[in-house]
Amino acid sequence: MPADSFALHRSTTAFALSEAQQAVLHGADRFAAAELHPLQGRMDNEDWWPPHIMPRLAEMGFLGVTAGAAHGGADADFFTTGLITQALARWNHAVALSYVAHENLCLNNIARNASVQLCNKYLPPLCAGTAVGALGLTEPGAGSDALGSMATTAYRDGGHYVLNGTKLYITNGPIAEILLVYAKTDRSAGARGISAFIVERGFSGFSVAQELDKMGFRGSPTAELVFNDCIVPAENLVGVENQGVAVVMSGLDLERAIVAMINVGMAERAFALALDYATTRKQFGEKIGNFQLIQGKLADMYVQVETARTYCYSVLAACNDLAQGEGGRGDIHKRTAAAILYAAEACTRVCADAVQIFGGAGYMRDTEINRLYRATKLLEIGAGTTEIRKLIIAGELLRI
Ligand SMILES: Cc1cc2nc3c(=O)[nH]c(=O)nc-3n(C[C@H](O)[C@H](O)[C@H](O)COP(=O)(O)OP(=O)(O)OC[C@H]3O[C@@H](n4cnc5c(N)ncnc54)[C@H](O)[C@@H]3O)c2cc1C
Repeated sequence: MPADSFALHRSTTAFALSEAQQAVLHGADRFAAAELHPLQGRMDNEDWWPPHIMPRLAEMGFLGVTAGAAHGGADADFFTTGLITQALARWNHAVALSYVAHENLCLNNIARNASVQLCNKYLPPLCAGTAVGALGLTEPGAGSDALGSMATTAYRDGGHYVLNGTKLYITNGPIAEILLVYAKTDRSAGARGISAFIVERGFSGFSVAQELDKMGFRGSPTAELVFNDCIVPAENLVGVENQGVAVVMSGLDLERAIVAMINVGMAERAFALALDYATTRKQFGEKIGNFQLIQGKLADMYVQVETARTYCYSVLAACNDLAQGEGGRGDIHKRTAAAILYAAEACTRVCADAVQIFGGAGYMRDTEINRLYRATKLLEIGAGTTEIRKLIIAGELLRI
């Protein structure tokens, strides 16, 4: 197990987590340090996904956190998922990203919105980690304007729906067996008229077009998915036909709150690595941490990590009370956008400063700090870009 940074663990207890919450965070942290950290190098170098990881996360009780015990879940709250995400992201951000796509984007969305029959069928394998989950919203022509520009369509044909279209940049796409997919069921309804479907990898007309080669988060597989007259049983409609916008929008709020915790974990780790290096690396006969220009960076990093963690925890806690169908507007919409906006930009700055403290060593591709630096930019893009987050916040501030 790599040496823990003293600062990292000291600071995580500064926020008033309950004893039970601290136990979750430290338990997940110990597991991730021991079992996920050693996988980082191969995942990054070979863009390799370790197939044993989802079942192992299930064994640890990290899957189905918010799902009911009857489905193999833990019946715990949303905050708990955030703590697990934070711990995983410290030690293996690529696993954390795939975890979030599985646990939050797919599993939690199904648990919140799907019928009892669909939950009975799909939650047990997702909770057991025997099936990997993904969510397909983004398309080649529909990114920030995911709803308005959505070109994937679905029409009802007897006992099934027929889906046609392409989804792009889908996390877990190459390995997912169960996918929550959005498609337009009423093209005359503009940005509305969208429905959500559960698609199985084996359904006729579904295929993975290509696995995408990323600069960071390597090992967390990303794909372009194609639906070519894909046949989906009518009962796999999630919620009500044409009412999928509520599912998307409330899901996106929760996604932002959880992805923000990936930033927190990564920034904590980058800070811990930089602090450690500043106290060991010597130049001019002194530890570089003795130089005030390095001290200034460490102080700035510390403040950003503390601020991001504290604010993101408070937003996560607010998400615990989000009822089904709620979200997508109002205070929670603004706060989740604000949490990820701040945390993502802070993470990028902290990772950049950490690389600077490492000097040339930080520029070497096969180092942990370099992996964090290459990865962090995604978190200003995925789950709604920095610009879209600002539009959401301002929109809510100015709403009358
Ligand atoms: C590695 C990775 C994993 C992903 N995983 C998933 C996934 O699992 N499921 C999924 O559905 N999607 C996923 N995404 C997609 C992600 O959510 C989109 O990339 C993101 O929403 C941005 O869309 P876009 O890339 O099409 O950019 P665009 O929307 O084309 O934006 C391009 C630029 O224009 C800016 N812009 C756009 N509109 C405005 C505006 N109105 N005002 C100001 N600026 C604007 C944007 O902020 C951005 O800077 C993933 C993406 C990546 C890279």
